Amino acid sequence: MDDRTFRNAMGKFATGVTVITSSLNGQVRGMTANAFMSVSLNPKLVLISVGEKAKMNSVIQQTGKFAVNILSDQQQALSMLFAGQLKEERNVEFAWMDGHPILPDSLANILCDVDISYIAGDHTLYVGKVTDIYMKEGDPLLFFAGKYCTVAGLANGG
Ligand code: FAD
Ligand code: NAD
Repeated sequence: MDDRTFRNAMGKFATGVTVITSSLNGQVRGMTANAFMSVSLNPKLVLISVGEKAKMNSVIQQTGKFAVNILSDQQQALSMLFAGQLKEERNVEFAWMDGHPILPDSLANILCDVDISYIAGDHTLYVGKVTDIYMKEGDPLLFFAGKYCTVAGLANGG
């Protein structure tokens, strides 16, 4: 099977969009990710999957901490920035919660300590123990078939 067939099939699974944030020695890094899931209620665990080439790996491995910022439909530009889809440099304002850098105005900020990590092929899975959560009202940014979309856009036929 070729890679495009696999990606096209995975792209049929509509998701929200997150930016994973973490900081090492005061330097904040962000990375756009849609490979995110809720794992366990007791204890409260979530999972992210980070590609082996992503710089985010060494940051999470060294700090043992990350935050998952669930993006609203107003934050597509941030998703593009942290996926390397915008070529210009931008200065992003992070807020700080319990020592975690977070993106303000996200629908949710989920603060995690790494519980366990597991190398799966060309990605590393990080299971995070959730230490705190902040939430805001709003509609989500969505990703489907390799494109960004919104709930309002889908309701209007795309
Ligand atoms: P870099 O490539 O170094 O950083 C990404 C971008 O963020 C760069 O342009 C960098 O300048 C910018 N940036 C980082 N920190 C800051 C800062 N503090 N201030 C300003 N700009 C900053 N990859 C996965 O591994 N797992 C996934 O689940 C996943 N899901 C994705 C979902 C979507 C919708 C998209 C579009 C991409 C997804 N990717 C995923 C791909 C991933 O986002 C990119 O490969 C990313 O560029 C790799 O991150 P990196 O850690 O190597 O960071
Ligand atoms: P795409 O058509 O590549 O993505 C569709 C779906 O394929 C994604 O939602 C994801 O489930 C899967 N996928 C894509 N690349 C993958 C990878 N390297 N490993 C595992 N699963 C992957 O969409 P696009 O617009 O071309 O994506 C933009 C960029 O972001 C591409 O470079 C893509 O590889 C990357 N991306 C990576 C992941 C990931 O690593 N989990 C997820 C989404 C997008």
